[in-house]
Amino acid sequence: MHHHVNSDRCSNDLSIFEEHLQYIKSKFTSIFPGENIMGNCVCLTFDDAYVDFYYLIYPLLKKYGLKALLAVPSKYILDSCDEISETRMGFEHNDLFANYEKGTFCTFKELKEMVDSGLVRIGSHSHTHIDLTADGVDLDIELRFSKEILEQKLGVEVDSFVFPFGKYNQEILQQAKKYYKYSFRIGNAIHNDFNGINGVIYRVDGDGLKTPDEIFGFKKILGYKFKGLIKRLGDK
Ligand SMILES: [Zn+2]
Repeated sequence: MHHHVNSDRCSNDLSIFEEHLQYIKSKFTSIFPGENIMGNCVCLTFDDAYVDFYYLIYPLLKKYGLKALLAVPSKYILDSCDEISETRMGFEHNDLFANYEKGTFCTFKELKEMVDSGLVRIGSHSHTHIDLTADGVDLDIELRFSKEILEQKLGVEVDSFVFPFGKYNQEILQQAKKYYKYSFRIGNAIHNDFNGINGVIYRVDGDGLKTPDEIFGFKKILGYKFKGLIKRLGDK
């Protein structure tokens, strides 16, 4: 799980991020949700579709031929934007949502271009990027409507959902399963398949890397496997 690059939060500097992708390219096959897992595979995911994904990350995916799932909060996506990239990327992390009308997120035009490349698959990250467990949340808007907008605008099937802030409960998960095959959270555990743990796919936090291969160290992997085991036993 990544968010973005060259930002002040939930981010990696572009240089270490590129080395991280080089490492992944040299050791793993990148796959989309639901694809066959043969040998060592990684499913790269990016949350929120901040505009630096289009300008800085997507070119690297092309350079290394890596696939990624991009989780999009549909409310914040403009059809297109004429503002220059420096302005659109010039906001602090915490100001990105409030300034979405200034093009701080990828536009539908940009999403379509990336989808057409075959390297980016779109998931829903709800409509308004709200904690779905909060009081008064309209799950129909957040789950069904978000999928509908993305599918209509991009002409693709959207079968992955990423819980905003990783927050859900069993009732919300069951609702999500009505519309999506794959539901993702945070959680720092790993899997051998796309069934997830008790129906939810856990992800490893790949922001704030100190070294390009930090999350692939022997001890880390052991930790993610152990966490998965505990969760499998505990959530029954
Ligand atoms: Zn998010």
